[in-house]
Amino acid sequence: KLTKLDDIVSLCKRRGFIFQSSEIYGGLASCYDYGPLGSELKRNVRNAWWKSMVQMRDDVVGLDSSIFMHPLVWKASGHADKFADLVTVCQKCNTRSRVDHLTEGAEEHTEHIDPELAAKDAKNLDKKVCPACGAVGKFSAPMEFKLMFQTEMGANVDDQMKVFLRPETAQGIFANFRNVLDSTRVKVPFGIAQIGKSFRNEVTTKAFIFRTREFEQAEMEFFCEPGTDEEWYKHWKEQRFQWYVEYGIKKENLRFRDHDPDELAHYAKACVDVEYKFPFGQGDWQELEGIANRTDYDLRQHQRGMRTINDWYENGRDLTKVTLKEEAEDYHKGPLSFFDDQEKKRYIPYVIEPSAGIDRSTLAFLVDAYDEEEVKGKTRNVLRFHPAIAPIKAAVFPLVKKEGMPEIAGKLSNDLKKHFACFYDEKGAVGRRYRRQDEAGTPYCVTVDGQTLEDDTVTVRERDSMDQQRINIDQVKSYLRENLDI
Ligand code: ATP
Repeated sequence: KLTKLDDIVSLCKRRGFIFQSSEIYGGLASCYDYGPLGSELKRNVRNAWWKSMVQMRDDVVGLDSSIFMHPLVWKASGHADKFADLVTVCQKCNTRSRVDHLTEGAEEHTEHIDPELAAKDAKNLDKKVCPACGAVGKFSAPMEFKLMFQTEMGANVDDQMKVFLRPETAQGIFANFRNVLDSTRVKVPFGIAQIGKSFRNEVTTKAFIFRTREFEQAEMEFFCEPGTDEEWYKHWKEQRFQWYVEYGIKKENLRFRDHDPDELAHYAKACVDVEYKFPFGQGDWQELEGIANRTDYDLRQHQRGMRTINDWYENGRDLTKVTLKEEAEDYHKGPLSFFDDQEKKRYIPYVIEPSAGIDRSTLAFLVDAYDEEEVKGKTRNVLRFHPAIAPIKAAVFPLVKKEGMPEIAGKLSNDLKKHFACFYDEKGAVGRRYRRQDEAGTPYCVTVDGQTLEDDTVTVRERDSMDQQRINIDQVKSYLRENLDI
């Protein structure tokens, strides 16, 4: 029997949710393409996040910043120097692998390689098994492996500039903090949210779309007054957990995991992961989203970066080699500070950051919705998506392709399409058409049949219960609207 993840991977391919990238050329490892159903699903996940984080809140605004940013951004943020994994090379097959899961508490090297833990890990290398060839204990000394992708910008050989593909969307938010403050009416406490692609040259990729080298993040930086940060941290922790539950993930498959103090990045005051019980191996709790109290670290770093750039222009120093200057004493009055005109005080806000993965949550929504059940001696595959997440909201069928049924059904489908994603299907037996929609996670199917011609009623079938009821064709739109709650 295949594991559940394999069932999902095969359903995703069969029904056009997710394909291997460049499959016709043998595929490109860790890269995936979202097909017709998958792109709708992913867009719905994005929209659900945006709705709860931006649309429903008076204190959060949106942003869409560019993937390429000035190299100093990554210098100031610490990524250019520190965003690395600790790796070792197998001396038998030359494959790189991450040095982790060897020493307790040392799993997470990303963003801050702790020399003490690294040394402990190095001692344990004689027990490590090479994931490629299975050799035991034949490894080089641990070394840093930079996770940011680099490329060159500009066509002229002389003035080409090395740029990075962003490894997170958050820095675009910090870099626009001042712009947003100056162009809108927001006041601390407030947040800036954005969704976009990020890129990391991960040493090991994992389990389908769980960890890939190109992925989409949904991040929000919430700026608040120092001293109120713990309260906001609590608020966002609860909000974010609830979001997954609201959109249909079963509570028993979700949990919080607080980071241990030695796991925290040096600037973070607290960090918690929302974890989901993914079906890898024996059922594996894995991070879905991280929520961190990042203090004033990021804005302070960018203030330093802003001072450094002036020095670069004046002295023509190589941008990639600049070191950040000592911070001025009155840093809290710097260009990225906030002036509270009621309290008459100026400070650098603290930041609470909920950082989620759109692909990773799409996988969680898929896994959690997936169900197999026996119906009349046959297996029914069904994706029990929340209506807001379901790629198609309703399918419309003529029972048979004659007596004017296709025309009536076609017209109804076109009417419904103005309001939500609707699918028209007239091919094959109606039972088969129902099953196909079950597999796509479509909450409702509407069938035009012989009786429709007599009394203008249609059958509405609900996905989970498979219950059918007859309603007037004129009421289909309002019925669906009410039941889909969209
Ligand atoms: P991990 O330890 O799983 O690699 P991380 O702790 O480095 O993740 P963060 O930097 O906190 O991840 O990123 C925030 C979120 O972005 C993660 O919770 C995850 O949902 C998503 N994410 C990060 N890296 C990847 C990736 N390589 N592929 C898919 N999603 C990712």
